[in-house]
This record gives sequence, C-alpha cells and structure tokens, in this order.
Amino acid sequence: MNLNTLHIGFDDTDSPYGMCTTYLAYKVVEFLKKERTEFLDFPKLVRFNPNIPWKTRGNGAVGISIRTKRPHRTKQMIRKFVIRYSDTKNGANPGLVFLEEETIPENLKKFSKLAMWNLISRTKAKRFVKENSLESYFFGNGQGLVGAVGSIGYSFEDQTLELLSYRKKSMFGKKRNLESNSVKMMQDQTFPHTFNSFDEKKRKVMIAPHGPDPVFCGIRGEDPGSLLTAFELIETNENLAGYMIFKSNQGTGDHLQNQFDVTNIKPYMSGTLTGYISEEPVSAEGRHVFFSLNSRGSEIACAVYRETRMTPIAMRLRRGDKVTVGGGIRKASKNHPRTLNVEFIRVLELAEILEHKNPLCDNCNKRMKSKGRGQGFECIRCGRKAINKESYVMNRRLENKLYIPAISAHRHLTKPRQRIGSLNQVKFEDKIPWFSIFRN
Ligand SMILES: [Zn+2]
Repeated sequence: MNLNTLHIGFDDTDSPYGMCTTYLAYKVVEFLKKERTEFLDFPKLVRFNPNIPWKTRGNGAVGISIRTKRPHRTKQMIRKFVIRYSDTKNGANPGLVFLEEETIPENLKKFSKLAMWNLISRTKAKRFVKENSLESYFFGNGQGLVGAVGSIGYSFEDQTLELLSYRKKSMFGKKRNLESNSVKMMQDQTFPHTFNSFDEKKRKVMIAPHGPDPVFCGIRGEDPGSLLTAFELIETNENLAGYMIFKSNQGTGDHLQNQFDVTNIKPYMSGTLTGYISEEPVSAEGRHVFFSLNSRGSEIACAVYRETRMTPIAMRLRRGDKVTVGGGIRKASKNHPRTLNVEFIRVLELAEILEHKNPLCDNCNKRMKSKGRGQGFECIRCGRKAINKESYVMNRRLENKLYIPAISAHRHLTKPRQRIGSLNQVKFEDKIPWFSIFRN
C-alpha cells in the first residue's frame, strides 16, 4: 500500500465571536480517523509571537502530520472544513498550507523560528508560499498564512500537551458549569504534571474559557496519562462532545529565546535584553512601573504592568543594577516612547547602594536628632552626641534570581516556574487515547 506523507497547517480561523482553530482541528481529525489515516504525531498547537497587534486570540496555529492513501481527496476535504468552520464573517483570515514531503525543508523551519518573535507580514508570507511552491489557500486578507506555514515548520525542543474538551453544539454560548473545587483537587493531585489549572491566590479556575467558543476546558500538562487522569477528576454535569490532546509550545517561553540586537529593535518583536538600570523606576498612578535600561550604550524604556504583580519587585531596582528583561516591544505613542513590556526580570547583579541615616544612640537604640545644619546630632533621651550621619549598605530586598509574573497574568507561552530548565519530550504512539468522541 502506498502511503503519502502529508503535513497540514492552518491558522486564523477564529474570531472573538465564536469558533476556534483547535475545534476545526478536532473536526478535521474526526474526519481523518474515519478515513483510516495514519497519524505521525499529536496535532500540534503552536503559539507564535504574542506581541503582534493583529493576532487572533492567543495567536495559535495548528499543524497535523499524517500518512494517507488518498492525499488529493484528503486535501479537498480539509479545504471544505476550513471554509465551513472559519468565522470569516467576523474577521477571521484563515490560511491553509499543505506539504507532501517526508522531511520538513529548512526554510520552513527558519520561517517558523522567525514567526516566534518577529513580525512577519502577510505579504511576506504570500511571497514565501509562492517562492517555495507550497500548496496554499487563504481567505480574507491571508494573515493566517503566517501561522499555517509556521505550524508545519515548527521544530519542538521543549514541549507541553493540552487536552482540550469540546461542547456539544447545543451548548455553545451557554455558561460552563464546572465544579471549581474539583479543579482545585485535580491540581493538588496532578501538579506539576499538569499546570496553570487553578489560581490559588485568586481562587479562580483557569482551565475554562468564558467566551462563546466550543471549548469546554483545556488542561495543560507534561504527559498524556496525567492529562487523562486530570480530566477524569473534573466534575461537571454537562455532556461533552469529546476531547483531543495537542502537543504544544505553550508554557515553554519560546518567544523569549531571541536576544534583541539593541541596534535593531522594532515594534512587536519579542525577546530579551541585558543591561543596566539607567533610570530608576517610577510608579504611574500607583499602577504600572516604568524604568529605563541601558544595553551597550542604547537606552530603552521598560514597563511592568500591575497585572503581572511584578511591580513591587520592579520598584526596588536601582541605577546600576544589571538585569535581563524579556518581553515585547510596544510601538511609540504620543505619551510613551517605544517601550519593552516586561514579561520577566532576571536580576544578575545588584549595585551596592549606601543609605545615610542619623546616627543610632548606643544607649537608647534610638536615632539621634539633627541639631541643625553642620551642628551634629544629639539623642533626645540621654543627650549623647555625634558628628556625622552613618552610612549603611541598603538592604535591597532583591536577589540575583528570576522574577516572573503571577499565574493569573501568564500568557500561553509564559514558562511557569516549575518548568524552568525543563526540556520535556513526549513520544507519540497511536495507542495513546489522544482523541475521543463521547457516545452519550
Ligand atoms: Zn540616647
């Protein structure tokens, strides 16, 4: 039997009003299963540069790699699915790409790497598919081509999985009834093999979206077994349609692998920058914190948003501290210069800062009072005198370590604390129950 390898990539099929690229993937896989397709891997859910302005929710694209007897018919059907399940009326700009090759060409891999942190225009993506004679389709303005090519070209190093469960059509748009205690228990029992399910501080369920899309809940984790156990532990009285496990770069921090070239920073890029604090932090209206970083002679404004709960840490930075910050570049506006929106702060070296205080009275353990300019100090209790202020090395209340946002401010790609340093690899085997349609 002659089987052809076929890589499928699509993106930008969703809109804020419904539908979802992963649901389209679920419907496509349902069809492919019926066609007795051989799957080469989990469906891939790849998140690209989160700091570009026209991203769809989460900027996630899907890639599926299969072997099939009938590539022509398969492609035709998938095109139909993309047209049917895309919310083009509400601003989706779907892109669809097919690649019938065993191995992924290097230039697709390069394209994908670039899409992780840079801005790739749809014009560039259109030119790329043409130059590489890729079979591709787009609807709307074609923005979806970027993720469609990128999801085929993406090479996983570190990886996570997400089990996404879907609702029956009759439930779309209705409130999700999900027992929050069961989510907390699930997290207690399966963390760190699952993660970001429940925010202990805010007592908030984090696995369920709130919009009208078909997703009931999404559980993130490191291996299929833990996801299936976790899914069993979730209590709901809703009859769900089914689930699918995706392999993903969520939680890997992949968009911050790029180190900025300080002479060539452009809006919407993501990356990291190492330098010295050159302008000390100020808090704007007690909310967001702004400071400047000097990296190899160039200065860039940095902003830490209150939602990250890193602002108290940012406020402790002082001129001369050496840090690495990671984040996305926001375009200059009328009121703000071009700014790096900080997604993590790694303190590398703390400057030694001297504080000058009135001398301490050895007798009374109280600070003395100044007797006026140039006239020394005196203890008001016992009358002991001293001439000069005392210098102290300031307690910085910062350590040489990595500071990351609170879980509630994590984005899809944010690397959670317990994943730092991890290089998870999941071997795909078709006997894993990675896809299921419930019969009820
Ligand atoms: Zn005294």
